[in-house]
Amino acid sequence: MKEKVKYIIVGQGLVGTWMSYHLEQAGLSYKVINDPNIKSATSVASGVINPVTGRRIVQTWMIETILPYAITAYQKIAQQLNIEIIKASPVISIHPSQQMSESFDYRLHHDNVYLYKQDPSKWDVFFESPFGIGAINNCYWIDLNTMISNWKNILIQKQNYLAAHFEMSDVTFLEDGILWNNIHAERIIFCDGINSMNNPYFKALPFAPNKGEALIIKVPGLNNEHIYKNSVTVVPWKDDLFWVGSSYEWEFNHTAPTPAFKEKMIQGLNQFLKLPYEIVDHIVGIRPANTQRRPFIGVHPIHKQLAICNGMGTKGCSLAPYFTNELFHLLEHDTPVEPEASLKRFDSILSN
Ligand SMILES: Cc1cc2nc3c(=O)[nH]c(=O)nc-3n(C[C@H](O)[C@H](O)[C@H](O)COP(=O)(O)OP(=O)(O)OC[C@H]3O[C@@H](n4cnc5c(N)ncnc54)[C@H](O)[C@@H]3O)c2cc1C
Repeated sequence: MKEKVKYIIVGQGLVGTWMSYHLEQAGLSYKVINDPNIKSATSVASGVINPVTGRRIVQTWMIETILPYAITAYQKIAQQLNIEIIKASPVISIHPSQQMSESFDYRLHHDNVYLYKQDPSKWDVFFESPFGIGAINNCYWIDLNTMISNWKNILIQKQNYLAAHFEMSDVTFLEDGILWNNIHAERIIFCDGINSMNNPYFKALPFAPNKGEALIIKVPGLNNEHIYKNSVTVVPWKDDLFWVGSSYEWEFNHTAPTPAFKEKMIQGLNQFLKLPYEIVDHIVGIRPANTQRRPFIGVHPIHKQLAICNGMGTKGCSLAPYFTNELFHLLEHDTPVEPEASLKRFDSILSN
């Protein structure tokens, strides 16, 4: 017998989780199809939201709108799941060079919203800090793996989750939607990360996958209320484990961990961390990035049964709650998506 739902969501990484959350809140019917054998970017991400970026420490795109939305959204889902997901975690910036220290000081006195100074003596036991220490406020840490696994349990309880591999070639297009594996849906929403690059209907989008590696280390005695940044970033993971990363590789010929990355992180850590540490894991993920550094949110210009929410790149934690909601409002209320993120900007290339 055929099952009928309004939406099929492909993927339950960060984006598929938020997409299904909005549909669930609205009481709509949906099924999430997720292949657990495909490693998601979300599962290796450090989960940091930082309102500033780059060597010049400038505010990130749309942060004044996106950050308050994201904070409330993570708090709401945490409340619903009855777990802690979001934690305010200032970034302690242990400047790795005189140049970085000067850059920080410059921003501190020009258009500064988030930066403040730290007394280095407070951190003497933990870090070498010959170039001084600054701090960044309004940064948050999201416990992504806890959130994804708890939300998956809700989806399973509600019979809205299917562990399966989705192939576009198994889809039959109908007048009023699509048919996949005996599931009839009005629309499919692709939240499948880098897999969308292989989708015949979306592969023309300017995807630019980006490989990122990280080490998981054990550092007994290091305070896990903060994120630490030197030439490497150290982020609380769980208990006395910390995530250390990362690399940003646009060109790569395999997706395995590399000894060169591990060596670079060890050198970086030894330069500033005074506490002993032990490496317990080395992980890798591929960020669904793109050449425009803006998300892809919308409906296919010809095949209206197909929608996509993708291209979160390095900033999924802050972008995903907001832009899945934008897609939800487009699909349900025909509300236009923020033009810089809208799929409409690719209408001509997707129509060929
Ligand atoms: C090392 C690293 C560190 C990062 N750190 C941060 C950070 O600190 N802050 C931040 O904001 N972002 C960070 N990111 C980026 C962040 O991980 C991504 O922006 C975000 O996770 C993308 O989520 P997604 O749901 O689009 O993709 P994914 O997390 O990759 O999820 C895609 C899902 O689709 C499923 N899927 C794929 N194909 C199929 C198929 N054919 N059938 C069924 N299911 C399928 C997969 O199983 C997966 O569950 C980091 C990324 C990496 C790699």
